[in-house]
Amino acid sequence: QNSLIDVQNLRVSFLDAGTEIPVVQEVSFSVKPGEVLCIVGESGCGKSLTSLSMMGLLPSSARTSGEIKFNGANLLKLDQEELRKIRGNQISMIFQEPMTSLNPVFTVGFQLMEPLLIHRRCSKKEAYQEAIQLLAQVGISDPQKRMEQYPHELSGGMRQRVMIAMALACQPKLLIADEPTTALDVTIQAQILDLILKLRDDTGMGVILITHDMGVVAETADRVLVMYAGKAVEEGDVETLFNHPKHPYTRGLLRSVPNVDEEEYQLESIPGSLPKPGSIRQGCPFHPRCSEAMDRCVTEFPGEFVYEKGHMVRCWLGEKEVGCSHE
Ligand code: SF4
Ligand code: MG
Repeated sequence: QNSLIDVQNLRVSFLDAGTEIPVVQEVSFSVKPGEVLCIVGESGCGKSLTSLSMMGLLPSSARTSGEIKFNGANLLKLDQEELRKIRGNQISMIFQEPMTSLNPVFTVGFQLMEPLLIHRRCSKKEAYQEAIQLLAQVGISDPQKRMEQYPHELSGGMRQRVMIAMALACQPKLLIADEPTTALDVTIQAQILDLILKLRDDTGMGVILITHDMGVVAETADRVLVMYAGKAVEEGDVETLFNHPKHPYTRGLLRSVPNVDEEEYQLESIPGSLPKPGSIRQGCPFHPRCSEAMDRCVTEFPGEFVYEKGHMVRCWLGEKEVGCSHE
């Protein structure tokens, strides 16, 4: 089956006092219709910038290279007008805090009907019916009443459901969800993730789910991309990645899956912290924290090593096991 979106060698950088600082580099992945790809890593690893680049929503000071192929076009080369059309229509995004994306001065109904009136050219009556149906689809009871309410009158979980309903209003082929459940309690979080998976089953849309939580990955992903310091360090299907993690960073992340009764997610098993963008100019960006680092890790940027079933690892340890690097 063909890919819905195909990202090749994505690079995003910013200028700092005349020096170009790459914040995303060597990132490639693709998503097929009906597939859930989880992009995972610590906050600051470049996963949100990766998703913003797919939506054409990077700050204007960002420089990009590489390719994001969607429907035969390279999204990195389209102008704002063309990107707006794709955003309103074929790619939808939901964010962590729906309060910032919902407009506080308009009712839920108004905000939900707007994309239907504009993008799908529904009549007012059709838009109303469809909005009610969307609210029911995302599990909101008494949708007629909710249509008349303002965002602040809803609970956090309900606002996130409204956001998902809005994202679905344009019947997207691809849904990008950036930490969509982080602000919610565990029960609501599970409901929202189930909802996204159910909608994926119903509509066949592809989903890119961005998270720092390996528990969320385990529950939702078909494929997983692990990012560290702006780079893709491991990628594979979810069973392979959980059962045979190769990169020391991924292994650390997996050791940090919290107990069910533990509220806080912690990365205790990996001492140290994410380097500042641009601060590590050579070698493996993980070497200061890696318990398995070798001499060459300090000076040589690791190549990609590909195991069975397309399982990719960017770590010198792969060389002994796989042999040649695919760069
Ligand atoms: Fe550790 Fe070296 Fe692999 Fe980087 S390349 S993760 S430093 S072993
Ligand atoms: Mg983020």
